[in-house]
Amino acid sequence: MGLERSAAVVIGSFPLGESDRVVTFFTRQFGKVRGVAKAARRMRSRFAGALELFTLGELVFFDTGRSDLVRVDHFDIVRPFDRVRDDLDRLGQAAWMAECVARLTADHDANAAVYGLLVRALRSVEALTPPGRVAVVFGVRCVDALGHRLRTDACVGCGRAALAAGPTAWIDVAGGGVVCGACATGNPDAVRVAPGTVSALRRLRLLDWTEATGGRLGRAEYELREVLEAQIARLIGQASRASRFVREVSRAASVPTGSR
Ligand SMILES: [Zn+2]
Repeated sequence: MGLERSAAVVIGSFPLGESDRVVTFFTRQFGKVRGVAKAARRMRSRFAGALELFTLGELVFFDTGRSDLVRVDHFDIVRPFDRVRDDLDRLGQAAWMAECVARLTADHDANAAVYGLLVRALRSVEALTPPGRVAVVFGVRCVDALGHRLRTDACVGCGRAALAAGPTAWIDVAGGGVVCGACATGNPDAVRVAPGTVSALRRLRLLDWTEATGGRLGRAEYELREVLEAQIARLIGQASRASRFVREVSRAASVPTGSR
């Protein structure tokens, strides 16, 4: 309770009443914090452009302890991440990452690892690392950091350690990890992937951030994204909103110019 201060990233917002804005921040010290920025939508607001999605800044807020919403007093820009917003693919992938954090975390539940991941991921997207790859590396590490790590050492169905080598592997997002062929049969939560995708998942956890985001993932990028989508949809009870936007952007990008 009282006046608090923390580094924070804007991960969502919506208008409130005539001129205010409700802003969701992910702070380094307090985790997710939602607050009202008074008069934020007025022409000469003291927040002037600072509350744009993905902006990293120094947040000062007042927590009365009586409401879920704090009062946003100041938000001074440290890094605006403009470049993340000026391209549809970058915007969509970053919005997906912000949505993961916003929906998978509870208010005032600090998680320095997730905060660090989000800032690192935004930096990579701004530095023009392929945003789809950044989102997958971020997603794998984010669900791990939030305690939803998928097991890859043994079948989560029967416990058999040595999974038979074959052309196909399965990941059961409800069961929490890889499953053998027998346990995957008839299991609606088992996502079919190439064995290389399971190896890529293990590798992405071990590499440092620059190495993980620096190399091509090939088919594993697409398949890990499917696994993450299934896992996140299960955790939040529905598909993420940003995932639809990302699909529409990639569909639009794959239509050759002139055929529309
Ligand atoms: Zn099994």
